Amino acid sequence: MIDLHSHTNESDGTCSPAQLVAEAHRAGVTILGITDHDTFKGYDQALPAAAEAGLELVCGIELSTKLHGHSAHLLGYFLGHRNLDEFRTWVTGQQAERRDRNVRLVVRLQELGFDVTLAEAEARGRGMTGRPHFAQILVEKGYVANLRQAFDDYLDESAKGYVFRREPQFAEAVARIRAAGGIASLAHPVRVKGDIPALMPELCQSGLNAIEAYHSDHTPQDTQLYLGLASHYGLRVTGGSDYHGAIKPNVTFGSLRVPDDLLDQLRA
Ligand code: AMP
Ligand code: ZN
Ligand code: FE
Ligand code: FE
Repeated sequence: MIDLHSHTNESDGTCSPAQLVAEAHRAGVTILGITDHDTFKGYDQALPAAAEAGLELVCGIELSTKLHGHSAHLLGYFLGHRNLDEFRTWVTGQQAERRDRNVRLVVRLQELGFDVTLAEAEARGRGMTGRPHFAQILVEKGYVANLRQAFDDYLDESAKGYVFRREPQFAEAVARIRAAGGIASLAHPVRVKGDIPALMPELCQSGLNAIEAYHSDHTPQDTQLYLGLASHYGLRVTGGSDYHGAIKPNVTFGSLRVPDDLLDQLRA
């Protein structure tokens, strides 16, 4: 079984890299893509555990980008080869942008009357502290009932606590991944605001290689739609659960079936 989309606690997952490998192995995953947000630390640390378990790791990343002003996640795969120093340096720059945003987000949340500090958030998220960690704090302190409400009322792009973060344009992120010898795949297209079929020519123009047709948020109809688009535009297909550990308990390894032969096509 393959799963090409997962997160460790080096981004917003709850499993350490070694725990993630153990969970995946236990569920029967033989090839695992680690796609932490804007960092390779989870992948790097998981390598020894994976070697020991006999589980193959695919080096991946999930980049936050802007597409027509809205957030769009982009997966990069096979980033183990060309120009890697340059790509990793660029990724480190994205982390700095995130920290700058977090400083401003704390000010905004304090303005809204919440007792929240950067240190509290960073105790949870460390180098990859993000909105999900602030959401947890709002829940734990009883300001909101659940994570959903934290986002809907305060943290979502359209909510009153949102603060802007400089993010690369979608096309730039695709170009960076490709310059590093990687494959760029549009993550969970169902979550992208906008008409994906209508956007396809533009996405292809930017150099996109693949589309994530299989994802835990996709209905069978969604998957069929994205498989159809991939076929029509000559894109490859990726898929994965988007496992985040205990924070998203409904998503487990093995809960999503991703065809094994996708990988051969990706590698071709
Ligand atoms: P950040 O990178 O810190 O801006 O946080 C982005 C992450 O927050 C995403 O990867 C999602 O996991 C989560 N997120 C963003 N918007 C929402 C939302 N409306 N509801 C739930 N989670 C969200
Ligand atoms: Zn995530
Ligand atoms: Fe994502
Ligand atoms: Fe993800």
